Amino acid sequence: MNREIKQCQNCKQSFTIEPDDFAFYEKLKVPAPTFCPDCRYQRRIANRNEWNFYKRDCGLCKKSMVSIYNPAYFGPVYCNDCWWSDKWDPLAYGRDFDFSKTFFEQFSKLRFETPRITLANSKSINSEYSNQSEENKNCYMVVATGTSENCMYGNWYQGSKDCVDCWAMYKCEIMYESLNCRDCYKCFFVEDNKDCHDMYFSKDCRLCSNCFGCVSLRGKTYCWFNEQLSKDEYQKRLAEVLWTQENIDNLRKKLDEFSLQKPVKFEHSYTKNENSTGDYIGGNKNVHYGFNARLSENLKFGQDAWEARDCMDLTETLDNELEYEGEGSGWGNRNIASAKSWWNNDALYSDLNFNCNNIFGCVSLHAKSYCILNKQYSEKEYYDLKEKIIAHMRKNGEWGEFFPAEISPFPYNDSLAQDYFPMTKDEVIAKGLRWHDRDARDYKVTLPHENLPEKIGDASDSILKEVISCSLHGFRCATAFRLHPAELQFYRQFNLPIPHKCFPCRLQERLARRNPRKLWHRQCMCLPAGRQATNTAKHFHGDKPCPNEFETSYAPDRPEIVYCEECYNKEVA
Ligand SMILES: [Zn+2]
Ligand SMILES: [Zn+2]
Ligand SMILES: [Zn+2]
Ligand SMILES: [Zn+2]
Ligand SMILES: [Zn+2]
Repeated sequence: MNREIKQCQNCKQSFTIEPDDFAFYEKLKVPAPTFCPDCRYQRRIANRNEWNFYKRDCGLCKKSMVSIYNPAYFGPVYCNDCWWSDKWDPLAYGRDFDFSKTFFEQFSKLRFETPRITLANSKSINSEYSNQSEENKNCYMVVATGTSENCMYGNWYQGSKDCVDCWAMYKCEIMYESLNCRDCYKCFFVEDNKDCHDMYFSKDCRLCSNCFGCVSLRGKTYCWFNEQLSKDEYQKRLAEVLWTQENIDNLRKKLDEFSLQKPVKFEHSYTKNENSTGDYIGGNKNVHYGFNARLSENLKFGQDAWEARDCMDLTETLDNELEYEGEGSGWGNRNIASAKSWWNNDALYSDLNFNCNNIFGCVSLHAKSYCILNKQYSEKEYYDLKEKIIAHMRKNGEWGEFFPAEISPFPYNDSLAQDYFPMTKDEVIAKGLRWHDRDARDYKVTLPHENLPEKIGDASDSILKEVISCSLHGFRCATAFRLHPAELQFYRQFNLPIPHKCFPCRLQERLARRNPRKLWHRQCMCLPAGRQATNTAKHFHGDKPCPNEFETSYAPDRPEIVYCEECYNKEVA
């Protein structure tokens, strides 16, 4: 097959399908996609609500529970205990396939009628407000988090402890307001660090400790904005830092300005990648357009996809092989269009199924085989009917396409799509998608953020009772917030001031610090003749501009000095 230019059915932009892509589609016997990669990503995450929690009663035991389904959702929603119990039978919702109707029409009806789990949070202890997470202890407001303890307000904590307000912490401990770190301990306001401890306001450091305001250092201690100090001088300066919100904002600004003077590597990666493109990637081989895609091989278009092998179009997934169009799925083989489904093989159009083999268009099944639309068949009946349904779906242009956003169980503005592809209410409705008007927030603010104590030492326990106003009123703002007791304890222990912004505003600001999930083709900006190099090491291109080109998430109009790996390594060595 040759490369082919197609027009996206959704946004009408053109997109390219490469010969390798066709080989993958042939292997899975699906036609080439009709949506461009971005629209496919948007469609997957329109099916996912991460953060919008509501209170509602379990449809079975009637107990109040935390849920990602808003009160207007009309289908049954069960608490974790009831959903996993044998007090109900998902096969009781089974039905025959009707060839006079489309597949998605029938699937959507089944999905709205079959009980759903209130949120995906398994094998966790005392971690009620956690979604798409498992095996956590004492966590609060975390998403896409696993085997972590005492973590709060963040996403992608993996094997981490005592982290607050962070994104993508891998085996980290005691971290605050930080992004994309690995094997770090006790760091505050840092980004892209690995193997560091006791760091403040720093970026892109390795094997460093006790540094403040530093950028791209290797194996250093007691540095202050990249200046080497004595231990005494460092400790003296650190003791003088004023830990108020205002000063923290100034220090972050100062670090951002300082880091613009240093070259950055064209991608954020702290472990090696082979023949791969994307950003926030590591340990990959032949991974393309991967964003927070790690430890994967032969993966294309993966966002927050780890340990994928021979896969395409995965979002928020873990440990899959030969999977196409997956969202929130894990430990699967040969699945096509799989949503929030774990430990399945050969599952087609699967939603909330666990430990199943050979299922098609099923919802909320555990440990079943040979089911179609939640109806049990014999092995032979299953294969015969499966082929007929695939032919029917091909005819209707459904086969190979992920669940349309129009039939998502979530209103568009509750879904993750609103974070990455925001639309106004009018735009959402014009596209035939649902919008949910949240009840007006009528929090009675008892403490305007302007009156918060500047230093944590001045906050008494009574602050836990206060309803604090948010200073930002950003996109998704909760308008006001309360402090969690564990949160106050963390601020006290590490001398951090109380934030002036609500959690959704802090989250949005933090995620906006990352590079966008897009790639531009650019050339290395290393021109040593015109720019003062930070060390005298000779670059391979001598006094000529570096000819290396790459795909980067740094857009051409950004202010950073973007280097290829070779030139960057010369500068930081
Ligand atoms: Zn498109
Ligand atoms: Zn229940
Ligand atoms: Zn806010
Ligand atoms: Zn270069
Ligand atoms: Zn160079």
